[in-house]
Amino acid sequence: MSHNNIARKVQNLQSSAIRELLKHSKMDGVISLGGGIPDPDLFDREGLQIAMDNVLSSGWKEAFQYGLSEGSPALREAICSLLSKRQIHCHVDDVVVTSGSQQSLDILARALIDPGDVVVVERPTYLAALQIFQLAEANLMSVGTDGDGMIIDELEALVKTTRVKAVYIVPTFGNPGGVTLAEHRRKQLVELSKRYGFVIIEDDPYGEINFTDKTFTPLKAWAETMDNSDNVIYTSTFSKILAPGTRVGWLVVPGWLKRQVVNLKQATDLHTSALSQSLTWHYLQTGRLSGQIALIRDAYKQKCQTLSQHLEKELGDHLTFHQPMGGMFLWARFKYELNTTQWLQKTLNNGVVYVPGEFFYCKEPDHSTLRMSYVSVPEANLKEAVVRLKASLDASV
Ligand code: PMP
Repeated sequence: MSHNNIARKVQNLQSSAIRELLKHSKMDGVISLGGGIPDPDLFDREGLQIAMDNVLSSGWKEAFQYGLSEGSPALREAICSLLSKRQIHCHVDDVVVTSGSQQSLDILARALIDPGDVVVVERPTYLAALQIFQLAEANLMSVGTDGDGMIIDELEALVKTTRVKAVYIVPTFGNPGGVTLAEHRRKQLVELSKRYGFVIIEDDPYGEINFTDKTFTPLKAWAETMDNSDNVIYTSTFSKILAPGTRVGWLVVPGWLKRQVVNLKQATDLHTSALSQSLTWHYLQTGRLSGQIALIRDAYKQKCQTLSQHLEKELGDHLTFHQPMGGMFLWARFKYELNTTQWLQKTLNNGVVYVPGEFFYCKEPDHSTLRMSYVSVPEANLKEAVVRLKASLDASV
């Protein structure tokens, strides 16, 4: 048997370049700003224990049985209440539980994209979404971002000349860019989707991790008020606010797409783990989620401030960045050309790693960019990380 037996579209499928690059980051003494995972020290062990005990006592057999492809009705009901606090008003029938937002995106790509269909993403965008759309053989195009998120005027110029099938966006505290789409742009984007008939895939894993007093209205909520709900598909997850290992996320799907999404979910894995769904539902019943979100938000906010202050002080002459208003990532760019993929070897030698920005572009990467995550680094190490970055720079210029 040879490589030729592998399906054409997966022959060149790579493991995430980030994983490859960061395999050294677990070495003793290396401070990693490269990880994209939540701080496990903040997992609510006590709450999860209560929920797990309850899974095993009341109605426990359901947690070990096959279930509905669209997910447990009780959990979908609870998700609807959670969404109403995000200004999204949906019916339990609109919600499909998935095995994380990653699966939501995969299902949507398969439900919506024929080879060659144009999918527009932000520049930069979430790497694993790029992989999914590439596997779906989409024709990927990108639109620039600034401190107010995706530049919607640039998108408008594109949709005027090109038939766009879908726009994929992480509008709130994005990964990797850390930027948030301004309210006026949200409205403008939803209007455009109606005028030009494209679907918006709104990916919102970080919206609750808000460091400010402002509220950012999801595109899905804007769409409701603008009588345009059909154009926006919303996905979110418990990964960043509870724990990613349970693999529980969800989709809010318009009626026209519901049947295909449920059928695809069925064909993929029948349904999301009943045990995980039951655990999540019981956790929600403890009433601890809002306290947990506050804990995560405060801890990440503090760390984000520490990292940005040190970056400003030590590397302000070299780097520019937008102060994140929430989420897990700080995105920076050198004020001059510096290839951050090559520089990584130097910083690794000095005991600090990050993710080079080039991987987050569908084409024409900006090599002078980098993504830093502050959430899993002990606060005391953040200053040291910046000192080491600076030392690596002194060695390179
Ligand atoms: N979308 C974005 C923008 C993400 O950052 C992530 C997680 N890194 C996901 C989706 C996938 O999350 P989940 O754990 O829910 O699959």
